[in-house]
Amino acid sequence: MLLTSLDPTHPGATDAAAAITVGPDSMSRAQVYQAARALAGSLPDSGPAAVHATPTLETIIAVTACLLAGVTVVPVPPDSGSAELHHILTDAKVTCWVGPPHPSSDLPAIPVGRHGRGEATALIAPADDDLAMIMYTSGTTGAPKGVKLSHRALAAGIDALADAWQWTPDDTVVHGLPLFHLHGLVLGVLGSLRIGSRVVHTEKPRPERYATAMGTMYFAVPTVWSRIAADESSARALRRARLLVSGSAPLPTPVFDRIAELTGSAPIERYGMSETMITLSTRADGQRRPGSVGQPVRGVETRLVTENGQPVPDDGVSIGRLQVRGPMLFDGYLNRPEETAAAWTDNGWFITGDVATRDATGFHRIVGRESVDLIKSGGYRIGAGEVETALLAHPSVQEVAVVGQADPDLGQRVVAYVVTEQQNRSTLAETLISFVTDTLSHHKRPREVVFVDELPRNALGKVQKKQL
Ligand code: ATP
Ligand code: MG
Repeated sequence: MLLTSLDPTHPGATDAAAAITVGPDSMSRAQVYQAARALAGSLPDSGPAAVHATPTLETIIAVTACLLAGVTVVPVPPDSGSAELHHILTDAKVTCWVGPPHPSSDLPAIPVGRHGRGEATALIAPADDDLAMIMYTSGTTGAPKGVKLSHRALAAGIDALADAWQWTPDDTVVHGLPLFHLHGLVLGVLGSLRIGSRVVHTEKPRPERYATAMGTMYFAVPTVWSRIAADESSARALRRARLLVSGSAPLPTPVFDRIAELTGSAPIERYGMSETMITLSTRADGQRRPGSVGQPVRGVETRLVTENGQPVPDDGVSIGRLQVRGPMLFDGYLNRPEETAAAWTDNGWFITGDVATRDATGFHRIVGRESVDLIKSGGYRIGAGEVETALLAHPSVQEVAVVGQADPDLGQRVVAYVVTEQQNRSTLAETLISFVTDTLSHHKRPREVVFVDELPRNALGKVQKKQL
């Protein structure tokens, strides 16, 4: 069973009174379980059900009910436009909504009540191989893909984190992440419902809301950590926390350093994908290094290979294609047999599409996506992240995204998109290029600096480099 800690008859059950909180709204675990249990009996078994994943307790009850009943859940982003909504509902062949529907859908909806008791019918427990969820990827590199996740994969992924983060029922997880992705829904909510920790959803990822929620573990994406780092009193309020976790995108070193300074605890970085759950993470009891996502979690193996499949040395600098293996991997993309086949090597390694380095102690650095973050310029292979880190060290640079743009001479040339508050931009471009001469070799230095008011980001704060 996936949500072991909820079922009071299960040996893994924990304190039923512990709260699940969304904004000002709270229910005990026992109440969530009863409400979900009552709802589970009335769900149709005719296909996947959509949950309109607003930040509410109803969303948590709806997802829980589907998982208890063995109905595949399709989380739908609340702000999805009609094209995205249509894509998800038709691709997943959704038959109904559980809970309030999205306003632009006319599929039938099954209401979520909060006071289920007594009437719960006997349920057949879903098998480990059954599909728990079809989760759509962030769509950073193309149309969102439906990722098929089994009950077994979700359970294995959460258990590996319980090990890496020493996550127990004594923890309180605080996060303000969207409830339709891996980070917020699977780690934040389902992780807590499996392990038995309390969970507080702050509704919005604002520093002051993180500061006032009393937690032991805080989950956020780098843009939110950066806002917390800039808000000294909120950051200081996190001094009581045991673990500050960053993921979904690279955490800039200045933000890592500032958070460590203000909170007294260096952030933990983790790396994962909708397809793989979390495969790499700093351990709670391990070393925390800026710029590194740590080591493989329990049960995971990684390898780095060249374009021709040759091994890349574990020297911490050679860049290779990151491939992973482990019990928490997905069961393929929905309705995409070619992409599913292309995602694995002949001997069963999943090709993440990301490029990374690994050192002799097994610590990985994520360079980024092979398609946009690996710049091939004048015969060199340059990781965009290294150039971004060098530029971020300059106090006038608020945010930066480095990309390779077509160049007749070099193949690609390094271009930096910079967000700054400084007015005099014409001299700043030159200042920045000379600023990085100490840290970057000649071929890595930006050939051009473009100033923008903001970087294009999606709901998780990931920079959409294809739009630059
Ligand atoms: P799509 O596959 O639709 O283009 P996406 O890859 O952004 O979207 P997700 O599965 O949500 O969708 O995100 C996984 C990706 O996020 C990883 O492949 C990696 O590029 C990036 N990522 C996750 N964690 C980290 C991290 N700690 N550091 C750097 N990148 C990260
Ligand atoms: Mg992806």
